[in-house]
Amino acid sequence: MGRVYNFSAGPAVLPEEVLKEAADEMLDYNGSGMSVMEMSHRSKVYDDIIKTAEKDLRQLLGIPDNYKVMFLQGGASTQFAMIPMNLMKNKVADYIITGQWAKKAYKEACIYGKANAIASSEDKTFSYIPDCSDLPVSEDADYVYICENNTIYGTKYKKLPNTKGKILVSDVSSCFLSEPMNISDYGVVYGGVQKNIGPAGVVITIMREDLITDDVLPGTPTMLKYKTHADNDSLYNTPPAYGIYICGKVFKWLKSMGGLQVMKERNEEKARVLYDFLDSSKMFTGTVVKEDRSLMNVPFVTGDKELDAKFVAEASAEGLENLKGHRTVGGMRASIYNAMPKAGVEKLVEFMSDFEKKNLK
Ligand SMILES: *Cc1c(COP(=O)(O)O)cnc(C)c1O
Repeated sequence: MGRVYNFSAGPAVLPEEVLKEAADEMLDYNGSGMSVMEMSHRSKVYDDIIKTAEKDLRQLLGIPDNYKVMFLQGGASTQFAMIPMNLMKNKVADYIITGQWAKKAYKEACIYGKANAIASSEDKTFSYIPDCSDLPVSEDADYVYICENNTIYGTKYKKLPNTKGKILVSDVSSCFLSEPMNISDYGVVYGGVQKNIGPAGVVITIMREDLITDDVLPGTPTMLKYKTHADNDSLYNTPPAYGIYICGKVFKWLKSMGGLQVMKERNEEKARVLYDFLDSSKMFTGTVVKEDRSLMNVPFVTGDKELDAKFVAEASAEGLENLKGHRTVGGMRASIYNAMPKAGVEKLVEFMSDFEKKNLK
């Protein structure tokens, strides 16, 4: 069987070109006589891999010089703890709860200080982004925290919250590099790469330099201090070396595609194909308010659990994989990250249209 169209929310589809290149280099990377998996992270060859990856990422996102880029481990979930441990100087932080990942981050922060949930969309199963133009931001908040693209619920902030001068911290795991962003609007931007960039095991954190200090909560482990990693260019200990190498290849791929503005246009075009169909369908409906729709994760339902299950099974038989929705939303979810070709979305819509014709009573 050949490759399928993989709509998984993460770990997720990677560009085929990248996988082929990695396969070609598997036994002998660039004349080194060994695989990237086998080489010392202190070697000249590897140093070049990680430095080039950072340089390309900086170029893609236009990261200002006063921001550090760190390649970390422990998944996005470890950032839920590292952020309060490193940034909660007043032991106060404000969280906007737009889904499970934001809620988990909020709960983690409650361990370390006073975390305030200043807005939430839980009342409507996280199907929208709350109005964040005039929130009750705490006077002494060390930061305001958001999850910018909600992987499970399929919402995305189209406008950043008004933090009233406080530092903005954003989890961009599932929209990382899907469109340009203005890094200087944030104090911290981070994401696990297994959604839109690379293999699981790498987290990229981009942080304004003045926020990286030794003034962290007492008892913070060395490995959980940003300063440890920033001071050592992500080589304090053995980094997730192979994962970073693949991320580097994806950065090169994104550059060859024309960069993030081009990716944004491609992603908008792909998402439009699916949303337009959902808006005209008599069987399928999107679960999110139109203004807040994500370009990356598209949940939809038929309203009939058995029909949903039938759809997922029949789609899988057609090579359209991993369309089952998250258990808290039900139905289906199509994740259409950077590496999902437009042809994959078109095939999905064609299948949905056929399914509708056959099953509509
Ligand atoms: C997947 C995901 C996480 C959790 O990532 P792990 O690497 O599994 O810890 C956090 N935030 C968002 C937005 C995600 O999509």
